[in-house]
Amino acid sequence: MMQQYMEVKNQYKDCILFYRLGDFYEMFFDDALTASKVLEITLTGRDCGQPERAPMCGVPYHACDVYLNKLIENGFKVAICEQVEDPKLAKGIVKREVIRVVTPGTNMSNAILDETRNNYLMSIVENDGAFGISLVDITTGEFKTARVPSLSKLTDEINKYSPAEIIGNHSFMNCDLDFIYLREKMKISISEAPEHYFNQMLCEDAIMRQFGVNNMDGLGLKDFPDCILSSGVLLQYLHETQKNSLAHINHIVLYSIDDFMILDSATRRNLELCETLRDKQKRGSLLWVLDKTKTAMGARMLRSMIEQPLIYKKDIEARLDAVDQLNNDMINRDEMREYLNPIYDLERLMTRISLRSANPRDMIAFKTSLSYLPYIRQLLQIYPDGLLADIYEKMDELQDIYDLLERSINDDPPILIREGGIFKDGYLEEIDTLKSAKTDGKTWLAELEEREKQKTGIKNLRIKFNKVFGYYFEVTNSYKDLVPEYFIRKQTLANSERYTTEELDNLAGSILGSEDKLYALEYETYVALRDKIAGEILRVQNTARQIALLDCLCSLSYVASANQFVRPEINEDGVIDIKEGRHPVVEKMMNNGMFISNDTYLNNFESRISIITGPNMAGKSTYMRQTALIVLMAQIGSFVPAASANIGICDRIFTRVGASDDLASGQSTFMVEMSEVANILRNATKNSLLILDEIGRGTSTYDGLSIAWAVVEYISNSELLGAKTLFATHYHELTELEGKLSSVNNYCIAVKEDGDDIVFLRKIVKGGADRSYGIQVAKLAGVPDIVINRANEICNQLIDTDITTKLKDIKITNDFHKSDSDTQMSFLANPEESAILEEIKNADLSNMTPMKALLYLNELQERI
Ligand code: ADP
Repeated sequence: MMQQYMEVKNQYKDCILFYRLGDFYEMFFDDALTASKVLEITLTGRDCGQPERAPMCGVPYHACDVYLNKLIENGFKVAICEQVEDPKLAKGIVKREVIRVVTPGTNMSNAILDETRNNYLMSIVENDGAFGISLVDITTGEFKTARVPSLSKLTDEINKYSPAEIIGNHSFMNCDLDFIYLREKMKISISEAPEHYFNQMLCEDAIMRQFGVNNMDGLGLKDFPDCILSSGVLLQYLHETQKNSLAHINHIVLYSIDDFMILDSATRRNLELCETLRDKQKRGSLLWVLDKTKTAMGARMLRSMIEQPLIYKKDIEARLDAVDQLNNDMINRDEMREYLNPIYDLERLMTRISLRSANPRDMIAFKTSLSYLPYIRQLLQIYPDGLLADIYEKMDELQDIYDLLERSINDDPPILIREGGIFKDGYLEEIDTLKSAKTDGKTWLAELEEREKQKTGIKNLRIKFNKVFGYYFEVTNSYKDLVPEYFIRKQTLANSERYTTEELDNLAGSILGSEDKLYALEYETYVALRDKIAGEILRVQNTARQIALLDCLCSLSYVASANQFVRPEINEDGVIDIKEGRHPVVEKMMNNGMFISNDTYLNNFESRISIITGPNMAGKSTYMRQTALIVLMAQIGSFVPAASANIGICDRIFTRVGASDDLASGQSTFMVEMSEVANILRNATKNSLLILDEIGRGTSTYDGLSIAWAVVEYISNSELLGAKTLFATHYHELTELEGKLSSVNNYCIAVKEDGDDIVFLRKIVKGGADRSYGIQVAKLAGVPDIVINRANEICNQLIDTDITTKLKDIKITNDFHKSDSDTQMSFLANPEESAILEEIKNADLSNMTPMKALLYLNELQERI
């Protein structure tokens, strides 16, 4: 047995092997050491033909899911090795095979998967600085692929989908990504796929087989060799691990990363799109406000809408139109939401049906869900055009499947499929016949029991049944004396005796015989029925998508009407004009109607940059995030929290706010801040929206102020960048830029002075703050008076040396010295030194003697 174990284990070295032994999955050697620690189970040992016992631990197979999930959650892969022949028939050792490998990206367990989010497995192929990426969610069958031109965009895609698992080629594993962050913060399990997967022919073959085509043209993949590789590798990995044809994955989508607004990871986190920055909760995020979906499919789709806002006016307007239509008849909408409410996760149910793991109760859930489709479709009839009319057209009521299930499966069926009780009367004649044989048998038993009771005078004589002894008479000890001769003793218990008779044996034989036949027939019939429904997968998947979209649109509509959101106008002229805008999440969290609304106006000309000053706690960052969120919501196709809004489509939103939590990765706050600024200045375009909060805070005043100043100059220069920007700063000195730069305007968040104290008014007004009020805020926060007073003294002395006067003299430049530093390190600016480097690069070292090399080095040294 150990030999067999080792043979299997050798093929699955990177997995923990669950080796089936009787009612347990056993683990040995290192697997046992690891698993016993992670699972907190006892480590034992077993003789293995070697001097030392093999470390061993095990988990019961009927409760293995809990243990398996724990290992997966901890990033391990588990190979499940089953007995594949009947132990009774086996000669020698029972044959065993790995029937499935469970990995974080291929787990299907309902117990740990959040039904409102996808569980993605991603494959990435690096090729010459560009990437082919493919994603699959095997619980729903979704499969997509894209070409990603650069490492930074790859990071964006990884952040967008946050997959549970990534497999990549060798050069991907060596590219300059922050793998520690991905593994430890994002909890992604990352591994290198076997070299032999990366063969173009094999990949094409896998794709053609999976999607039932003869070439790559039909799928639109012909010109995307990297995508062919990443998709092919993903499919091979799935086949290796799932050992199953995965027929529910039947559709591949080639998408372009340029079709959506690009959001980098810092921005996603800062804007708290799907979870909060601090405690990673949904509550407090934008998703929390927008998600009032009723179905799991809808919840998943809404999350992905938020993860990827649109950039084409036509697409955005289509969603807004639909939300508008729904808002115009809220009774109809709410009725549809009522019908959506009881619909189960059709996508995941269908996957289980297709993978043959759906039980009869799943079928009832499926049937119940289908029963609401005609009502929903009928309500959809009133919409004359647009997305809703589209959904009406595309949605299939699936009533043939509903009827089939309604006729066949019992309303309260068992979970197990081998013990009968699945089918309704009248569905299949043979089943009915066997069922009545079984029921008749029960009557015969009752009659026999009554007859024997009369005959023997044993008043409490009972016929009972258990799995080991079958049917038997039970006689309590008090009636032992009345037991007749023809009763044959089977078993003696403390208080009773068990007997059988010839007649009982015959009867039992015929009852059990028909029962066995019935169970076998029900099982066969059930499997055939399930396969028949599996054949309808395309229709069901399509309808599931329509339901998901309808659910999302209803949710957006409901949220809009419940929170007094308005329909934004969408323009392509770069104007952002928000009247009385509110922060959707802060407003909701305050829940008392006390949120103060504010206007925002930005355009591509004289109002490109707003410098926002005001003391800490005034509401600067709330105001800036609110603007970003309103733009983002508009591009999702959602109504927005404002009195009115006209939104110019943005290609990207960048944010640089507060201290990032990257401290753990060993970078200083200032370094993180500056890398984010660098990323923004390099990647933003004229059509981007920039939210910059307190740039330059992490260093000395002069450095910080100078950096902030130079950054604003750079952004405002339309030849260099020219992006719309909200720039909050506590350097009120920066307000000097207004007037010097035509596109810069000063705003501040008003506070009222009340003697030594300040009152926050939360209202944004034109003009700059002339003071920072830092000491007043410190006082509000409870810093002792003695310190506050001293701070006031020092401040008064410093004010004489105010740098504002000096700043007044600084002239704006349009002449940025375009140093070579953007492409080369600065010391290369000296032409002589770069010539030397070039020479070193080309020097023929292998043909130099050590002496010659020394002389050469000396010569170089003299030239520097
Ligand atoms: P700053 O960035 O200026 O330090 P914040 O934006 O963090 O200030 O705001 C501080 C607090 O003020 C927020 O937590 C919020 O509760 C409250 N606040 C901000 N803006 C508003 C507003 N418009 N209406 C009501 N309360 C607000």
